[in-house]
Amino acid sequence: MREPVVLECSSCKSRNYMVALETKGGKKLEVKKFCRTCRGHVVHKSRKA
Ligand SMILES: [Zn+2]
Repeated sequence: MREPVVLECSSCKSRNYMVALETKGGKKLEVKKFCRTCRGHVVHKSRKA
């Protein structure tokens, strides 16, 4: 099932991205994304929207 999740910056906790993901057993996703607040690429963690 595809669920909307937010990708939260692990550094400043800004919620920078909203994506729909195939969630399997509540597994957490970590992706490097650009964060405007940190002005660089930071690991973002998925959270339930
Ligand atoms: Zn950040």
